[in-house]
Amino acid sequence: MQTCPCGSNKPYALCCEPIIANKANAQTAEQLMRSRYTAFTFANINYLMNSHHPKTRPIKEKKDILKWAKSVTWLGLQILYTDKGKESDMEGIVKFKALFLENGIPRELVEESVFVKENCKWYYVSGKHS
Ligand SMILES: [Zn+2]
Repeated sequence: MQTCPCGSNKPYALCCEPIIANKANAQTAEQLMRSRYTAFTFANINYLMNSHHPKTRPIKEKKDILKWAKSVTWLGLQILYTDKGKESDMEGIVKFKALFLENGIPRELVEESVFVKENCKWYYVSGKHS
């Protein structure tokens, strides 16, 4: 079985796939974050848009995000810390590091992301790079 790109060491079919395929909701902000990383590795722009809170959804940048996601080689994800974002919470913060190759150059993106839960669904709201 294919291991999930998010680095959980779980099979893809039991990790991010059901969330990305809309068969299951992310239970935690971290799960949503992982599924978004995985969607980036597959350049699944529709999932990236749908999991982005409508208030901050970057519709205008959709094409650019897709182009960028396709142009880089994704190497891995590390969750650095989480604050709230559990099943019983309505908001949460996840800080992560994503590793990728851009034009053959290794790069890392460190971001502290804010998530909210609405109608039992987690959404990505915004991120702060450090
Ligand atoms: Zn996963």
